[in-house]
Amino acid sequence: MVYTGRFAPSPTGPLHFGSLLAALASYLDARSHKGRWLVRIEDLDPPREVKGATDNILSTLELFGLHWDGEVVRQSHRLNRYKDILTQLSSNGLAYPCNCSRQQIQRRSGSPRYDGYCRNHPPDADQLCAVRSRCENNYHFNDRILGLQDFKTQQEDFVIFRRDGFFAYQLAVTIDDAEQKISHIVRGADLLDSTPKQIHLQHQLGYQQPLYAHIPVATNTLGQKLSKQTFAPALDQNERVKLMIKALDFLGQQPLKTLADSTIEECLKWAVEHWDISRVPACLSIALEES
Ligand code: GLU
Repeated sequence: MVYTGRFAPSPTGPLHFGSLLAALASYLDARSHKGRWLVRIEDLDPPREVKGATDNILSTLELFGLHWDGEVVRQSHRLNRYKDILTQLSSNGLAYPCNCSRQQIQRRSGSPRYDGYCRNHPPDADQLCAVRSRCENNYHFNDRILGLQDFKTQQEDFVIFRRDGFFAYQLAVTIDDAEQKISHIVRGADLLDSTPKQIHLQHQLGYQQPLYAHIPVATNTLGQKLSKQTFAPALDQNERVKLMIKALDFLGQQPLKTLADSTIEECLKWAVEHWDISRVPACLSIALEES
């Protein structure tokens, strides 16, 4: 099998330490397997997008020596493809329109979990609708870091096209991973719940299932994931080596003290040669000390 990995950031702001971890872990796993490493910009949600973020993310990756293969794919250029697949799923009866509001779902099922109402009560054709995937099965998979992931509860019929007219992440990411022939997905454990949804769509669409590895998410001392919302600072380009060492340490790679005096390229070379995924802590999150 040809190893192909990827980093798939959403352009909602500059890279921060949390996104560096996902970029670095996916890069190191790919390069240590002599594999390809692709970058895909997940710009599917214009209201959340920050102007200039894509260029900023790409130039930061380069400054950190994380050079990708081939062209950067932008999801905003692939909408016709998503539309075709959505039509295919709908005409095969594997997806259906739904106009339920969050409040209606909550009122009916006493929780935000969707109860499948529109399977049996199709909305009128002129209504603004989301599209949901019809789920019958549960999926389990073997995570390369976390081990067997068995989701006991029946999956709900989840949204693959949003009522506000945008394609949902679950659909786009599944199509792109398959069409880019991604063999290994390494990403943050905040996306663990998405994996059975994506496996479900892979089955419906006859795609091959990639191997998954979910790395712990970095949180602040309050246990909140580092993100724009929690004011995670952008990566300081003057501290590249220090940040890279901190990321390697977080990922359990036991970086040598002497790397502090190396260049970013030397540091990355060491990290590729010594990458050992079995040393990545098998947990969902780790709080960072204030520094
Ligand atoms: N675009 C997603 C994010 O930035 C990541 C998607 C993925 O790795 O599957 O959270």
